[in-house]
Amino acid sequence: MKKIQAIRGMNDLLPADSPLWQYVEAVVTDILARYGYQEIRFPIVEATELFKRSIGEVTDIVEKEMYTFEDRNGDSLTLRPEGTACCVRACEENGLLYNQTQRLWYMGPMFRHERPQKGRYRQFHQIGVETFGIQGPDIDAEVLLLSARILRELGVGDAVQLQINSLGSAEARSAYKDALVSYLNQVAEQLDEDSKRRLGTNPLRILDSKDTSTQALLNNAPVLLDYLDEESHAHFEGLKQLLDAAGIAYQVNPRLVRGLDYYGKTAFEWVTDKLGAQSTVCAGGRYDGLVEQLGGKATPAVGFGIGLERLVLLVQALTVVPEGLDQQADVYLVAVGNVQQQAFQLAERIRDELPFVRLLAHCGGGNFKNQLKKADKSGADIALILGEDEVRDGKVVVKFLRDDVAQQTLSQEDAVTLLAGLE
Ligand code: ATP
Ligand code: MG
Repeated sequence: MKKIQAIRGMNDLLPADSPLWQYVEAVVTDILARYGYQEIRFPIVEATELFKRSIGEVTDIVEKEMYTFEDRNGDSLTLRPEGTACCVRACEENGLLYNQTQRLWYMGPMFRHERPQKGRYRQFHQIGVETFGIQGPDIDAEVLLLSARILRELGVGDAVQLQINSLGSAEARSAYKDALVSYLNQVAEQLDEDSKRRLGTNPLRILDSKDTSTQALLNNAPVLLDYLDEESHAHFEGLKQLLDAAGIAYQVNPRLVRGLDYYGKTAFEWVTDKLGAQSTVCAGGRYDGLVEQLGGKATPAVGFGIGLERLVLLVQALTVVPEGLDQQADVYLVAVGNVQQQAFQLAERIRDELPFVRLLAHCGGGNFKNQLKKADKSGADIALILGEDEVRDGKVVVKFLRDDVAQQTLSQEDAVTLLAGLE
């Protein structure tokens, strides 16, 4: 019979990989807590309309990347391609934006029907950060400091570069769009196919084109920053000053536009040259218009998303993975003969008294030699050996698996004391 396989671009995360993921997630969530951010969880499936109205009808995501299907009652539903719109929906629906500020984060799978390749998948994972109710550039700077710390504490700080831009107000963007379109219309035949199409639908995205001849044409194009409204200009200057004072290096990239329509004013990306074509590890910006667009009261907001697969790949590529992450156990309990009840008693006693010890208790019988092989394979430093003689004498053998130290036969009391000293 033909075996059923996973959906293309949707990966299993195997036991050998999960310690690294858990480590990365723990570093990030610890930092989020240290900044006073709170976790929010929302569903993986939402009404299709939510994404159409927020991300924008003529974006790549909505036009060709969403997993959309009909519910049994005919409603159009979509597997979330990103979290910002869902977060806004959840906050609005639960009154979290009424007369208060919020600093929130979430973590989980996102779904986009893209061409799978290294760093680009159809189910991928993001840690997202969203803040609401704060207007000034101070909160933009805070989320950038936060993202910088995440990258730094994971040891990848030197491999990433911060690029920032201001997308201005909706009016400024619209004036710039007109100027860009009239410039590009003159050279339209020379544009790549994608950009030709975008000229009529989403011209700002042309700035983002990976096509080298299109990029060359853009060298003489009008520059978005020249069209900034006064307020956006002041906001951007304020942000740069805060970043300078905090010692956060950045590059102003006037061609940085995001692929989602809701961004205005600040936009940023952390990019790396260590992951090939998939260079953006973290991306975000300000979206002051989105809450209102989705039916709420106008609420300033800024946030970002980190692509976890790319972050994990980067940590691996730079070999900054801490040692011993994948070690399964500290202590392996070998139980030979008819001692299973006493073995469980000892194991549970150690788990009660020494909660920091990872204890793997042998199950499934087998002779001493076999069990000791398993103990070695588990990565444990110590094997506790319980046989019928030890049970009779109230003792246990402590065998050091990694050091050249003689094994000891101790009372269970003394064995627990010895393990306690290893913390
Ligand atoms: P890209 O330009 O790489 O397609 P994007 O602009 O579509 O990224 P966002 O929607 O801003 O990405 O998502 C934020 C982050 O999520 C990205 O910077 C990236 O790290 C990650 N990401 C986005 N799409 C994917 C994907 N298909 N597979 C893995 N990670 C992804
Ligand atoms: Mg994309």
